[in-house]
Amino acid sequence: MQVCIDRRVMTSPGIGERMQNWMVSFLDPSDWRRVGLARRSWAWFVGLLDPNDWRRLKAEGEGPVFIPITTEKGARFGTRDLLRDTLRASPGNLTIKLHALVTRVILENKRAVAVEYLDGPHLYQAGPEATSSASVPRRTVRARCEIILAGGAFNTPQLLMLSGIGPAEDLEKLGINVEVDLPGVGRNLQDRYEVGVVHEMRRYFDILEHATLRAQGPDFEDWQKGHGLYTTNGAVLGMIKRSSHDRQNPDLFMFALPGYFSGYWPGYSERGREKHYFTWAILKGHTNNRGGRVRLTSPDPCVPPDINFHYFDEGTDAGGDDLDAVVSGIEFIRHFGKRTAGLCDEIIPGPSVQTRLELNRFVKDNAWGHHACGTCRIGPDGDPDAVIDSRFSVRGVKGLRIVDASIFPKIPGFFIVSAVYMAAEKASDVICADDKARLRHF
Ligand SMILES: Cc1cc2nc3c(=O)[nH]c(=O)nc-3n(C[C@H](O)[C@H](O)[C@H](O)COP(=O)(O)OP(=O)(O)OC[C@H]3O[C@@H](n4cnc5c(N)ncnc54)[C@H](O)[C@@H]3O)c2cc1C
Repeated sequence: MQVCIDRRVMTSPGIGERMQNWMVSFLDPSDWRRVGLARRSWAWFVGLLDPNDWRRLKAEGEGPVFIPITTEKGARFGTRDLLRDTLRASPGNLTIKLHALVTRVILENKRAVAVEYLDGPHLYQAGPEATSSASVPRRTVRARCEIILAGGAFNTPQLLMLSGIGPAEDLEKLGINVEVDLPGVGRNLQDRYEVGVVHEMRRYFDILEHATLRAQGPDFEDWQKGHGLYTTNGAVLGMIKRSSHDRQNPDLFMFALPGYFSGYWPGYSERGREKHYFTWAILKGHTNNRGGRVRLTSPDPCVPPDINFHYFDEGTDAGGDDLDAVVSGIEFIRHFGKRTAGLCDEIIPGPSVQTRLELNRFVKDNAWGHHACGTCRIGPDGDPDAVIDSRFSVRGVKGLRIVDASIFPKIPGFFIVSAVYMAAEKASDVICADDKARLRHF
């Protein structure tokens, strides 16, 4: 808390405005009547540390937060579970085909009518277990109404381009028949930046003393019963902060992990099992760079496209604001570190990386991202780079929509997946409304 005060975290907006927001929300009687005063008061109090809490968002609040996680009864809960629930609830209405690589959408007179796929496992060459597709059957599924692509920020643009929808010049070079010239396909690739400041501890955290960090032991048994250490995602604390006081929105999200984390290297989780490390992961949100690109390099659907984020100097953040923000995050964490100097030693970036120039170099060499988006962005009529319209429909094609992280014009907030879920909710409303309108028309 003292570091927050020293570094003027939580001073914008003023404490008066913050107290006023708190009072207004606490005195709101609607929830009291619904869940009772005691539960409501507890939820209100805990909500103050929830980064998604409306009071915090309205105040553009900085300061310590808990890390929200999508779990149910202590276990991970996501899209997969929703799909399985839907299968159980509506047998016969949903078919999930595993081990299939979609290769293109088939168009007839600029209408999407079918999806072609290769029927076999591990065909995409990006995978570590990739196999040859030479003897794999190629199949087609015809659509009665329409087709919705949800292949993510890299594969949805790849699939569009394989289907002849994309920048005409690039498609022609690869011998792909151009169905619709959409120059925005694959452009506007964006991500955040993240780095880890790793410390070596002089002793273990007590909480990890008996943890095997494997599928065995008492902590694992606790998790199977829905409680204990493994029901968390490992992060013990989060901190939201502005990288500089003149920013309108906080742009740094920093979270503390009792373990070693310097990025998603192959095998990174093995290092996470070593108990005498502590990491502050620094995530830069609201990034400026929109200069990334996904380009098709081959008409073979098993070959990954060329993906280049054009990070830092290569991108569109001419002022270098993204880089400065990450470096400020490291400096802030080092300020924290001074207060725990007797307990641990910083090993990454480490004591030899001190000046602003050295820190810039460290960030450029080590930053990673994992919230890629924007490569089939939504946009108004007349926008030459817009790929879909406000009804999620691919421009220039009938019966084809996109609903995934590729649709965002600008990377949303700090973490992206809740925004992807919200876009999907909106899309389902739009699709149902369009379908009702279509049926009325008949
Ligand atoms: C390591 C990592 C950690 C992350 N952590 C977080 C986090 O903590 N919080 C957060 O908010 N976000 C996080 N993200 C980001 C988040 O997971 C993604 O932004 C989100 O899943 C994107 O959703 P999507 O529907 O666009 O794509 P995806 O979830 O990638 O779904 C696309 C699906 O399409 C399938 N597919 C693609 N091409 C084909 C094809 N040709 N044929 C058949 N299937 C195909 C893929 O296999 C995949 O299942 C993380 C991402 C990574 C990689």
